[in-house]
Amino acid sequence: MTGEWQDAKLAIAKLVAPLSLWMAAGWAAYPYAIEYISKQSGELDTIDLPEIRWFGLAAAIACIVVAVMSAGYYFMNRDDAGTQAPPTERCPYCDTDNPAGASACATCGRRLA
Ligand SMILES: [Zn+2]
Repeated sequence: MTGEWQDAKLAIAKLVAPLSLWMAAGWAAYPYAIEYISKQSGELDTIDLPEIRWFGLAAAIACIVVAVMSAGYYFMNRDDAGTQAPPTERCPYCDTDNPAGASACATCGRRLA
């Protein structure tokens, strides 16, 4: 797996997560919109409102699941793909981190092995 593809997948996940939340809101509102429009046009008794409600709810839940999975994927893989923490070397005397390969500790000045 190349890093470029990993970056692309992360970018997609970052895009899909909020988009899915937005779609979930849309699906949740969908039955109400249908109900309102049907009332306005006097066709409320011609539609199966409970079925439309169930469908809207199921679609909203599906979108939320996709959003959570995308967000989870993004936050779990974000660190691997982008900036990786530079390697450090711990000073055995004062217990602070120094850049790997440093000859002396920046904090206590002692020589690092
Ligand atoms: Zn030190």
